[in-house]
Amino acid sequence: MSLRGVRSTLVKAFRVARAHVKKNYPGVDLRVTSGYRSPAYQRQLRARWDRGNRGGLVYRPALVSRHSTGRAIDIGFVIRGRPVPVASIPAISWAYVGALMERQGVTWGGRWSPPDLPHFEV
Ligand SMILES: [Zn+2]
Repeated sequence: MSLRGVRSTLVKAFRVARAHVKKNYPGVDLRVTSGYRSPAYQRQLRARWDRGNRGGLVYRPALVSRHSTGRAIDIGFVIRGRPVPVASIPAISWAYVGALMERQGVTWGGRWSPPDLPHFEV
């Protein structure tokens, strides 16, 4: 997943957080699993969820999403080269990445109710 169309402040924050993780936790990396989504693609994702086909989705996609304005990314953990499902990552690891992003002024979906752990937005 590319960072094309994503706000530069969010791209920069992700790069800083990723570098921090890679430096301090050898074998652990972060990747962007979803970045910019056109409004049409966002509607498609939501319709797919509603049909019960939820592969790759953690939450029901919103109709109006910051992903559609380049103001949101979803991230995932990659451990020793393998992407790890969101639910398999301990809460403390999400909180660590959340803090790295928040201290750069990024809003973390992990604070929401219900939490959207992989989601970050500006
Ligand atoms: Zn998201």
